Amino acid sequence: AQASATPELTDGFHLVIDALKLNDLDTIFGLVGIPITDLARLAQAEGLRFIGFRHEQHAGNAAAIAGYMTGKPGICMTVSAPGFLNGLTALANATTNCFPMILISGSSEREIVDLQQGDYEEMDQLAIARPHCKAAFRVLHAEDIGVGFARAIRAAVSGRPGGVYLDLPAKLLAQTMDAAKGKASLIKVVDAAPRQLPAPDTVAKALDVLKTAKRPLILLGKGAAYAQADEDIRAFIEKTGVPYLPMSMAKGLLPDTHAQCASAARSYVLAEADVVMLVGARLNWLLSHGKGKTWGSEKGAKRFIQIDISPTEIDSNVPIEAPLIGDIGSCIGEMLKGVDASFPKPSAEWLANIASKKDKNLTSMAQKLAQSPSPMNFHSALGSIREVLKDHQDINLVNEGANTLDFCRAIIEQYQPRKRFDSGTWGVMGIGMGYAIGAAVTSGKPVVAIEGDSAFGFSGMELETICRYDLPVTTIIFNNNGVYRGTDVNPTGGKDVAPTVFVKDARYDKMIEAFGGIGRHVTTPEELAAALREGIASGKPTLINAVIDESAGTESGRLTNLNPQSGKK
Ligand code: ADP
Repeated sequence: AQASATPELTDGFHLVIDALKLNDLDTIFGLVGIPITDLARLAQAEGLRFIGFRHEQHAGNAAAIAGYMTGKPGICMTVSAPGFLNGLTALANATTNCFPMILISGSSEREIVDLQQGDYEEMDQLAIARPHCKAAFRVLHAEDIGVGFARAIRAAVSGRPGGVYLDLPAKLLAQTMDAAKGKASLIKVVDAAPRQLPAPDTVAKALDVLKTAKRPLILLGKGAAYAQADEDIRAFIEKTGVPYLPMSMAKGLLPDTHAQCASAARSYVLAEADVVMLVGARLNWLLSHGKGKTWGSEKGAKRFIQIDISPTEIDSNVPIEAPLIGDIGSCIGEMLKGVDASFPKPSAEWLANIASKKDKNLTSMAQKLAQSPSPMNFHSALGSIREVLKDHQDINLVNEGANTLDFCRAIIEQYQPRKRFDSGTWGVMGIGMGYAIGAAVTSGKPVVAIEGDSAFGFSGMELETICRYDLPVTTIIFNNNGVYRGTDVNPTGGKDVAPTVFVKDARYDKMIEAFGGIGRHVTTPEELAAALREGIASGKPTLINAVIDESAGTESGRLTNLNPQSGKK
């Protein structure tokens, strides 16, 4: 009788775990240390998955890609100051890419931090995080953990998705409170990403503009892939008959082999289209800001329709004649209602011209892919990967590098939505192994990561993580001995190699063997195809060191205009 008189207690540790569980967030990507080690242990004991990394940036990238794949915030957990800062890079990258994630970091004691008295890993993390994410919150009292998580979840997924920082001071975790009151303080978030219907007059306007087009084009961005409105998007494209161009991560929203896909005539359609409908794509650097030569500037201004959830995205670079603000599912759904048999089809000349451009470019691409130079170049290596992946249309593909990214994006076909994960809005290097782990854990399906040797270096230690969790990830390293290529020399003849050059003939395949994975060293397209088939079929952590001609690459991944050049001769 005496025991039942003592109220049952809970604490910050358990309330954090319960808040995650209550909101169906079942996986944490993180790295343990003070003050979150016990939190990670308890989370696992309570049935959550804790995937432990070797560096927080990659845990954060895994969380971000999980958020993109599922529409639920991916969770990353780190220690204070340096761990937090490592995770912050991923949080900023997620926010830039509009991926929902929550970075949870332990922090030092507020009283000491604020007086700058030199605590262990002292840092004002909340203030530092705020400019790099959508929202940042700190929870000081155990009874506020529920509200803290509810706010973080909503902020991450509603409106334009993005990264949220949640600061949990060490003291909070150990705070106790009455268990029943604790339970009652938690919030199960209802309708975290509510539908946002567009105003009816804006739908009518968008349809009117599209109807007047002679040479219309639909541009699908990763926002369209994220929205998971695949069927309506496909129906809209097929019913209107408008050719479409997918941005890299929107590839596969409709299969790249679709008759209306204009990827193989990209330069032509961008320059020649008269009306362009943007669906979840921003007119940023990746689209030359919607102006200039790429967009056929000499032919006069284009007319734009833009569907986006974020009203302030509109007119960011060029005037948008018909903005449609709302979630893509609702916007496309409403537009679809206005498309019947009488909807004017794009001009036959436009479609024929695109078809002939496509034909020409695909033929020349096929010729390049068919060549088999020794050593391999990007084309012959990617040609053989492409054939293998035709038999694995549901594969998750991770891709980064300079040339490796540019060529792979153009050569490897995607057949299903949300299966391509790449350098994204920042064109960043370092997402490789983090995204691969995130994609493998989230989907439970095989992943192939096609990596430049330089890009791989940023996250290579996570091979151990891949092996530790026995994940079905096959990593292919395009090894050309350096950044862009391996042939640069130090002009002074000094002892140091050129800034772009790595150890020659490195054997990356040996790295994975150190952790019990399968390493393969290949020098021909046939060997590469065989190793890839074997890697995918085995479901085992595999690394293929694919030797590429060290003079094959070009600088800055063919976007040389981004690199400032010295005018001094
Ligand atoms: P890409 O790099 O593929 O061109 P961006 O990341 O530049 O794509 O653009 C994605 C856009 O999609 C962002 O402007 C974002 O606000 C928008 N977006 C994201 N999710 C949705 C959604 N569910 N509904 C509408 N717009 C969305």
